[in-house]
Amino acid sequence: MNLKLTRSKPALPDSYFWTWDHSTNWVLDEPGLYNIGCDNRYLKKPETYIEDYRRLTDLCSDIGIKGIVIWGFLRDSHGGIEHSKRVAGYAASKGVAIMPGVGTTWYGGPYYEGSHHYNTETFLRENPSAGITGKDQWRTEDDYRKHGICPSNTIFEEWIHEGIRWLFREFEIGGINLENGDFLVCKCPACNAYMADRPMDEPEFYTYQALGYKASLECINKIKDEIGDKLITWATYTGFMPGNPHNEFDKSAYLHCSKPSIFGKLKNPEVTQWTLSGMLLEKPLPLDAYLDDGSPEKVFDNPKWPAGIYPPSQRGVGFAHQGSQWTENRYEQVVSSIKEACLRAYYSGLEGVSIHGELSSYHIPAALNYLAFSHFTHWPEDTMRDFGKKTLGEVFNNELEGEKYAEIFSHWDSGTLTEDDINQTVQIWNDLQKYTFKGSTLTIGNNLTRIRFWYWLRVMISKENRHENQFVFRRPHDRHTVSYV
Ligand SMILES: [Zn+2]
Repeated sequence: MNLKLTRSKPALPDSYFWTWDHSTNWVLDEPGLYNIGCDNRYLKKPETYIEDYRRLTDLCSDIGIKGIVIWGFLRDSHGGIEHSKRVAGYAASKGVAIMPGVGTTWYGGPYYEGSHHYNTETFLRENPSAGITGKDQWRTEDDYRKHGICPSNTIFEEWIHEGIRWLFREFEIGGINLENGDFLVCKCPACNAYMADRPMDEPEFYTYQALGYKASLECINKIKDEIGDKLITWATYTGFMPGNPHNEFDKSAYLHCSKPSIFGKLKNPEVTQWTLSGMLLEKPLPLDAYLDDGSPEKVFDNPKWPAGIYPPSQRGVGFAHQGSQWTENRYEQVVSSIKEACLRAYYSGLEGVSIHGELSSYHIPAALNYLAFSHFTHWPEDTMRDFGKKTLGEVFNNELEGEKYAEIFSHWDSGTLTEDDINQTVQIWNDLQKYTFKGSTLTIGNNLTRIRFWYWLRVMISKENRHENQFVFRRPHDRHTVSYV
């Protein structure tokens, strides 16, 4: 779908889409499609990997988004090095940064899955003594030894340094996104000694994170001159609200101390990827709150992220899981959360925001998310009306129509539709439908895009249909559930 936009320099320049290869489903007739989980096999055809990311790359280039994180960037099962070179090379040719997800001590290493020197499991088969020591409620000691590397191991340090250098040398990538296994715990004597030195007034979680990233960030620091301004981000797996949560559900929003001491200790620790998902309002504001006010007071009425809170890192980006399998609304529009994430990130001094980019833009809720992501990473303080005029207006090739769409869409989202909104939508849809009737000689051109957006809204506002995850060409009176990839 043509979503080409004119964009200036963004207010949140280090913004990117976060994806898993196995569930990035832009090719819709692929038998291996799968839409849940991590730690998965890749079940699609190897060539689909190239095509899925070619389409997502084109979207980034069209809407002014810097890059794409790919977890599972390198696998034997989707064409190994050759296919990953094509994915990264195509993106580079369009000015889009591919950022492979690199698990440092867990999650596969530089080469996510396969028989390769820079794959974690391969490394551990060759160096069994480097395995992690421990177990937890989900994983046995054997799992730990086969999939996790002890971060204090000296062979590991050398291996991850070489692996990161190899990635930058071999592929036209625009950065990397580091993770280490969410909560890495190694109980070997060397790691225990490192842990014994930690500040006792903060959770051990941070010292383990520091251990997991230390070698990789040291490597990045050494090759700074070679990689220039490529974007290196590392996941904290937590929000940055100082202090402790009041209940179990809010724990991901908080630092659980005032300022973790790892900031300032790690080499090149600046570009931290903070998890915003738990900091954002649990119940997003109805979209009409943003219709004429880009920064409504109500958005700051949030104990998990009051005004004036800044992350303890010098440089940071934020990641929101809203609109994904992780928040169980993968197929829904989450425009309010995206607007909120961009506005709050901007005010808290972050340099970028990331959301999921796994759905084809032919699914209108996803297209609306992507367009809102583009708009509010460029102009975080804009209103929904501005989004309508500047962004939807460009998609529809008509500023007034874009504004009208944003207005009705906001009222639908907020449950404040008027009879007039409904009548106008029906009228616009009836006019558009004429383009599609047999015998019509009206020029279709860009009108197909308008037809898709308005048809979706037309279905949404009809009283009997409140399921927004339905297929775009589903008939309004067809009530059965349609599964969608
Ligand atoms: Zn260890």
